[in-house]
Amino acid sequence: MRLDALIFGGGAAGLWLLDRLSRDGHHVLLLESRALGSGQTVASQGIIHGGLKYTLSGLLTKSAKNIREMPNVWRDSLLGKSTPNLTRTRVRSDCCYLWQTDSITSRAGMIGARLGLRVKPETISTDERPDALNGVYGTVARLPEQVISPQSFIQDLANQYRDRILKIDADNGLEFDLDSPGEVKAVRLTSPTDGSTLEFHPRQVIFTAGGGNARLRKRVGLSADVMQRRPLHMVVVRGNLPELNGHCLDGAKTRVTITSQMDSQGRMVWQVGGQVAEDGVKLDPGALTEHAWGELLSVLPGVDLRDTEWTTYSTDRAEGATANGSRPESIQVLCAGNVTTGWPTKLVLAPVLANEIASRATSPYVSAPFDTTPFADWPRPSVATLPWEEASCHWWKLGEAPALPRRKAA
Ligand SMILES: Cc1cc2nc3c(=O)[nH]c(=O)nc-3n(C[C@H](O)[C@H](O)[C@H](O)COP(=O)(O)OP(=O)(O)OC[C@H]3O[C@@H](n4cnc5c(N)ncnc54)[C@H](O)[C@@H]3O)c2cc1C
Repeated sequence: MRLDALIFGGGAAGLWLLDRLSRDGHHVLLLESRALGSGQTVASQGIIHGGLKYTLSGLLTKSAKNIREMPNVWRDSLLGKSTPNLTRTRVRSDCCYLWQTDSITSRAGMIGARLGLRVKPETISTDERPDALNGVYGTVARLPEQVISPQSFIQDLANQYRDRILKIDADNGLEFDLDSPGEVKAVRLTSPTDGSTLEFHPRQVIFTAGGGNARLRKRVGLSADVMQRRPLHMVVVRGNLPELNGHCLDGAKTRVTITSQMDSQGRMVWQVGGQVAEDGVKLDPGALTEHAWGELLSVLPGVDLRDTEWTTYSTDRAEGATANGSRPESIQVLCAGNVTTGWPTKLVLAPVLANEIASRATSPYVSAPFDTTPFADWPRPSVATLPWEEASCHWWKLGEAPALPRRKAA
């Protein structure tokens, strides 16, 4: 079967692109080897950044410039005013809070305003503070950056494009037929359930498989060392906690970033990232719990952590490689032959990556609607489980962390 495009990987990047190319009239399919959003998207904190984090050095960095339009782009989609339609994606919070022991308005506020960010922090009065920040000494600001549930975002797009998303066995059920390195003539699939086969002749092959991009590139004869991984060891706390979404700043660094959501048992769950998760890369789960506990006690003196339960998970940010291994300033796109490889670098930049790849695509080869009945019975992937809801997840009380190896997010 002829296709305009075949996308590998159904995280934020691949699914946003699938929506875009489908709307542009392309005959396009997405192939997923595990569960949709595995690796990074479902494990992420879901903050729709507007760039403030990247201006704390006082410079309008390229990252901040690239990101500053994103809160409006996402807000419109979440409201159903633009595409993709994300009205079924859960918005966990309409804003984030910023706090620091010294005055953040003098720093973050002034910088955000001077540098022309679209979302800027506003100092709030003591009465307006969320409960979690009651004991904080110093100013607290509200930043209109939304926080979404990344899992519901993936589910939302998966529901809309179910007929165009296929589950594959990337190890035993996928073969590339190459004309030359980076020039894919055909892709052959063997069904992971009943052994039936499909053969596609795509004009364009697109890898948006996050950390899986390196391996896919190798398989089509392209170099794999164009990708870097930056690890994080995240902390998760649950119990009778107040809701909190925000960042505690320490100079130009984010000391902790906390996002909240309820679990199915009605317990509040905090995902704790920021510098704590960077520090955690060198620590085992028990040592990281102690470190994170100390950090939370100092930055949130009013929160009672005594009856809480803790766990951790490790995951890598997968990105296009930079010369010194630091975070790329924006999306990364590489083209060779008929193969495009893309990393969004941030969840919020998925729309930028989709625009970039779609703008390079040639027009669809036929204008007839895409008939998806030939693969109506092909297996479909599920959506990834939250890292703290996986069967392998252990929880412990403070001071009782068992000696456990680090656990990778699915
Ligand atoms: C802990 C953490 C917190 C974060 N928080 C934020 C945040 O708050 N805001 C923000 O903007 N960004 C955040 N990010 C960054 C953001 O999550 C990522 O930039 C983004 O999710 C990457 O999306 P992706 O689709 O490229 O990759 P992924 O989400 O990793 O998806 C890749 C998909 O490809 C599939 N795949 C892999 N190999 C193959 C193959 N061979 N064939 C087919 N499919 C394959 C995988 O199973 C997966 O479904 C965070 C990242 C992490 C790790």
